[in-house]
Amino acid sequence: MANPVLMVVDDNPGSLATVDGTLRRRYGHDYLIISEATPGTALGRLRELRAAGHPVAVVMAAAAVAEAPAADFLAQARSIQPAAKRVLVIPRGGPAAPSLRVPVPLVADRQAATPVLRAIAHGMIDAYLPAPGAGRDEGFHRAVSELLEEWAHDAAPVLPAVRIIAGQQSARAHELRDTLARSSVPYAFHAAESAEGRSWLARAGQDGSALPVLLTYTGEVLVDPPNDRIAAVFGLAGLPAATVDVAIIGAGPAGLSAAVYAASEGLSTLLLEREAIGGQAGSSSLIRNYLGFPRGISGASLATRAFEQAWSFGAIPSMAGPVTALQPAPGGFTLHLPGGRASHARSVLITTGVSYRKLDAPGLDALLGAGVFYGATTSEHTAFAGEHVFIVGGANSAGQAAVNMARYAQQVTIVVRGDTLAARMSQYLIDEITATANIDVRTSTQIAAAEGTGQLEALTLTEARAGSTQTVPASALVILIGAVPHTDWLPPRIARDEHGFILTGSDLPASRNPAAGQTLPRPLETSMPGVFAAGDVRHGSVKRVASAVGEGSIATTQLTQYLQTQARNS
Ligand SMILES: Cc1cc2nc3c(=O)[nH]c(=O)nc-3n(C[C@H](O)[C@H](O)[C@H](O)COP(=O)(O)OP(=O)(O)OC[C@H]3O[C@@H](n4cnc5c(N)ncnc54)[C@H](O)[C@@H]3O)c2cc1C
Repeated sequence: MANPVLMVVDDNPGSLATVDGTLRRRYGHDYLIISEATPGTALGRLRELRAAGHPVAVVMAAAAVAEAPAADFLAQARSIQPAAKRVLVIPRGGPAAPSLRVPVPLVADRQAATPVLRAIAHGMIDAYLPAPGAGRDEGFHRAVSELLEEWAHDAAPVLPAVRIIAGQQSARAHELRDTLARSSVPYAFHAAESAEGRSWLARAGQDGSALPVLLTYTGEVLVDPPNDRIAAVFGLAGLPAATVDVAIIGAGPAGLSAAVYAASEGLSTLLLEREAIGGQAGSSSLIRNYLGFPRGISGASLATRAFEQAWSFGAIPSMAGPVTALQPAPGGFTLHLPGGRASHARSVLITTGVSYRKLDAPGLDALLGAGVFYGATTSEHTAFAGEHVFIVGGANSAGQAAVNMARYAQQVTIVVRGDTLAARMSQYLIDEITATANIDVRTSTQIAAAEGTGQLEALTLTEARAGSTQTVPASALVILIGAVPHTDWLPPRIARDEHGFILTGSDLPASRNPAAGQTLPRPLETSMPGVFAAGDVRHGSVKRVASAVGEGSIATTQLTQYLQTQARNS
């Protein structure tokens, strides 16, 4: 493969030369460094590289590029080279800069920082970096290396652990790629129709009549395998024979956190996952509000680190399939898995999370994170100051989001399929929306399409009553059409609210209190003693990574108390 490109764009010859030289000295052997003086020539070059099939790893633009605002240029770069990481390079200022990771101009002048923070929130850039200082600027290189690592992982793994050979449009292959990417397993995809694909099929001894074919790093050939068969290749499908202290069901942030704390406290810990490590967080390209990552971290990176941490403390991960049933058994619980398999645990923590209902319209998926957001992703209302934001949904969560957003956005439009908000929204919110001048409501309306070059620019709306279609400019679309908890497999003894979220602690009605009204149940304990719930799946939970992580650790403390009480009483 040709050396991937690191591109720098800056109209100031001095600073262009500095960044170019800094990159060339450190990465010149493995990457092709290309410098351009204007966004126009850079976009032309990116198109040429795409036509030649030449990979582009990183595009850096100086914040001061004059011909076009640098963030707009980087948003356009995404549509030409979607896999390339896009970085805004901020001028380094002030004498304190070398020792301070945050660029001084940003700290000193919040107003100057606003366009940068807005560009991140709108998904126009992946990161910002202070321009490199003189000499060996290890802070700059650490950030560049992290971006290169993420790019290489997603776009061009040097040593793929799995090769998938399948039809270009195969839905199962798409699912496999998504699952492997979310689990941070490096993979390569070869279209079965291509010369490369045919060559890999031949090496695997397959004629392509049954697809997808997977060729693993161990040389195993799997033809259209189920997920647990793939997990077995990585040693992740086993189940311990002995009863464990705690079985955690679901390896999203709550389950991973609980696994780290339980295993580090010395509990024998089994972590069961049906699909991909990281849960919903694994599908987030940039988590910006998790403590300790000021420039954000991709969900897949966070999940991989947490998984390694849990494993290093001794937690046993298993992707043997979804847990299909939970039953009390002597000394604890039995968990049933597909294929008649089962596992036994003295206590159970349910961290199975939720799925957001997806909105299906052309263009939406391609702009996910670049102006199109599901649920909790838009915690950064200030980034939409002065813009037109659309919110889809007719329940209270949509109403609350609209009211909050209207404090910053110039205009907020609620799009609702029904002919009134009153069907699913509380009256107090409807009153607040009516009283807020910059919120309008479009009933009987649906999103028909989204468009934009690297960033959401317009939405097409269809109005059912009039049968009309209209395309309107839009900066952001927040989709709040409901979350479904993964709880349909639980026994009726585990009490849930009307939407299926698990009730714990003081949320349990007195009749379902496992302590029979004598004491309050532990705050994260369910109506079945010894079974706990944490994270998004719990009634009343705050749908955030940090909250799920916090609840995972708290649940561990509570189930340790439960196990100690059980041990004393036996
Ligand atoms: C696209 C996107 C972006 C987001 N961005 C942010 C953000 O920037 N900041 C933020 O704070 N929050 C963000 N969130 C929300 C955040 O990801 C969630 O609040 C968090 O992941 C909840 O963690 P959890 O562990 O409770 O559940 P989940 O992450 O939902 O994990 C649950 C896990 O349980 C597994 N599971 C389900 N049923 C079973 C079963 N029967 N057997 C075995 N395993 C099972 C699932 O496969 C899944 O892996 C985002 C969410 C999405 C969808």
